[in-house]
Amino acid sequence: MQDFNAIRELIEKPQTVLITTHLNPDADAMGSSLGLAGYLKKRNHRVTVVTPTDYPENLFWLSGNEDVMVFDEKKRVEIAQLVEQADVIFCLDFSVLNRIRDLEPLVRQSRAKKVMIDHHLEPEAFADYTYWDTKAAATAQLIFQLIDQVGDKHLVDVPIAECLYAGIMTDTGSFRHASTTGDVHRVVAELIDIGINVSPIHRRIYDNISLDKLRFMGYVLAEKLVVLPEYRFAYITITDAELKRFRSKMGDTEGLVNQALAVEGVVMSAILIDRGDEVKMSFRSVGDFSVRDLASQHFNGGGHKNAAGGRTTLTLKQTEEKLLNVLPAYQEQLLETV
Ligand code: 5GP
Ligand code: MN
Repeated sequence: MQDFNAIRELIEKPQTVLITTHLNPDADAMGSSLGLAGYLKKRNHRVTVVTPTDYPENLFWLSGNEDVMVFDEKKRVEIAQLVEQADVIFCLDFSVLNRIRDLEPLVRQSRAKKVMIDHHLEPEAFADYTYWDTKAAATAQLIFQLIDQVGDKHLVDVPIAECLYAGIMTDTGSFRHASTTGDVHRVVAELIDIGINVSPIHRRIYDNISLDKLRFMGYVLAEKLVVLPEYRFAYITITDAELKRFRSKMGDTEGLVNQALAVEGVVMSAILIDRGDEVKMSFRSVGDFSVRDLASQHFNGGGHKNAAGGRTTLTLKQTEEKLLNVLPAYQEQLLETV
């Protein structure tokens, strides 16, 4: 159910708009939020982007980044006011409210009309209006299609197009995941025609690695990658001490789980990271093996068939043991995956 007409009416007159996205925002979360913000500002809305947590520095170049409010305890009152005053809240790149952490109760209680725009499976029915399509490769793709649907494509300028391109580029793994459809390329073709320069965007996001991160990646791949050929599974565990030793910053662990999936014969990979109050897990798979099912059945998580995440309040060691214990139930399926 796509509520284009309702959303069109909702943004017809200038409103106070709040845009939020999931915790630990990635390029699609920030690109879709800032792309939508740029567009709504052009339509004279008062727009604020609020994130539940901070995000990696390689996204700071996105247009409008300087005005993003990152939730922390010191800003709780100010952000609560913003949420309360909002006429419209756009929820981007997530579909269950627990993905916005401390913002969840504020958004739940808000009198604002809520619009959910997303491409994740199994949404929670919290929004008044939705534009939800699990076949979309990225939320940024949906933002472009929405702007097109409401007849405002001419308002997409280079800074907005760069934001949207960044989201689509990263969520498709640089246009190689199975989600890379003709529609993805058609949207991207239009973004390029608007005048964006794709090579610097790629460089700013991917070829912008601190020496600390590069050495950390080297260490993890050399010392911490475990391959279990009998399950065609590869995984990595990272302790708090290791994060500290390599002065690991937000986002420094990104990409490692994809590298584990690149090992010959491997069809599923995982990374388990000790984040102090919880263990954060990321899963990747190929073909029909659904890591979303595994993450949601055993690790309070979800996501997509081939890219999912979860979390536990167990210790890192206990989480690893739990994962190894659930593997046998999936062995047959893993061995059959092509
Ligand atoms: P990543 O591994 O890059 O953090 O996330 C991969 C995918 O899984 C993303 O689409 C993300 O939204 C989803 N995901 C990650 N962690 C969680 C989680 O704890 N719960 C749910 N429902 N989805 C998650
Ligand atoms: Mn996304």
